Amino acid sequence: MQGARRMQDQARPVQSPRLAREVADTRQRLVTGGAFYLLAWVVVAAPSDAFASHALASGLVGLAFLLLAILRFLPRPPPDDAPAARLQAWLDSRWAVVLATAALWGGVLSWTMLDPHMAPGRTAALLCTIAFATAFAHNYSLRLGRAALGIGLIYVPAPVLMPYAGESLSVVVTMGIYTAYLGLVMVRSYREYQGQLDLYDRVRSQRDEFETLSRVDPLTGLANRRYFSGAMDHLLVECRMRQQPLAMLVMDLDHFKYVNDEYGHDAGDVCLARFADRMREVFTAPGVHLARLGGEEFGVLLPGLDARGAAEAAERMRASLELHPLELREGLLAITVSIGVASLAPGSSAEGTDLYRAADRAMYQAKTDGRNRVRIDLGTA
Ligand code: GH3
Ligand code: MG
Ligand code: MG
Repeated sequence: MQGARRMQDQARPVQSPRLAREVADTRQRLVTGGAFYLLAWVVVAAPSDAFASHALASGLVGLAFLLLAILRFLPRPPPDDAPAARLQAWLDSRWAVVLATAALWGGVLSWTMLDPHMAPGRTAALLCTIAFATAFAHNYSLRLGRAALGIGLIYVPAPVLMPYAGESLSVVVTMGIYTAYLGLVMVRSYREYQGQLDLYDRVRSQRDEFETLSRVDPLTGLANRRYFSGAMDHLLVECRMRQQPLAMLVMDLDHFKYVNDEYGHDAGDVCLARFADRMREVFTAPGVHLARLGGEEFGVLLPGLDARGAAEAAERMRASLELHPLELREGLLAITVSIGVASLAPGSSAEGTDLYRAADRAMYQAKTDGRNRVRIDLGTA
């Protein structure tokens, strides 16, 4: 089981790939914005002399922008394979920072509109507002509702408060029209982003499919020979570390050619699939690895079992097949299996290939001795 776990660890599955991707994209987009707000505040406040006339308030606003800029980098995002709840919590906290920055900027803009002392900085504030709202529509449309809220916080004070600040109607209307443009940009970039995520999903599922195909035998759903060999190497290391033996069975169906000849190749295929099902029913111990090694030959790895224990497991399989024939559409199929058993002692310096060869030798011995039996090769014990 440890071997299996270790193999899984090497490619720990990402539980929420779409969310993980959004986390990575959000982090990338967070990097630059904060500093611009701080800079914009300095540009707006300087000509209006706010630092002198409202020293405390303007200092606090500057400090708040600085803190929010720093908070964009903290905390670091969770790893890709973190649970969805953790990824979502990180995203929510980032959105809180971004929306707080947007709200603070909306406050600054309102201040320049409503306080005559701030009037000299008003034009700069308006220009920065347009720039920030546009950047927001392009960058933060990962979530539509939140993006709309952010743009609203940054931008809406402008057209709403401008009439009170004595701005001309044409400027107010222009700002209103620009709002519609921002809405369109936001929706389009949201759709583009969702399209990217969909494409990412398709590429990932194709990759997973190929990955599965490369290690699974399609007829039986068991591991294929290549994967089985890799598993054997891992299990060998694990078993040696734990001072445990590692056993292997090679199982070959008897006179299988007869099944094909008598019932046809398709029935032969079904027979192989049913045999694999039976293997899954019989070998249920934790950590076992089952594989189709090729043709009508199957392999089993049994970590922790010596040759005697493995031979008992093999006998259960042989007897199960003898007592309960496989069920095909054509009826019950009384087929038998010859099984070779070998085991590596923990102190043995033999390799996986030696174990394989020994089990194979034992299987041929079972054939020679009359088939439908279990034989042990003690050459590696
Ligand atoms: P033995 O008891 O000596 O093992 O006899 P056998 O007939 O099982 O062995 P042999 O090697 O002579 O024949 C194996 C047969 O398995 C021949 C081959 O056509 C068939 N076979 C191999 N792979 C498949 C497969 O994927 N599907 C089907 N239906 N038959 C297969
Ligand atoms: Mg055979
Ligand atoms: Mg064979």
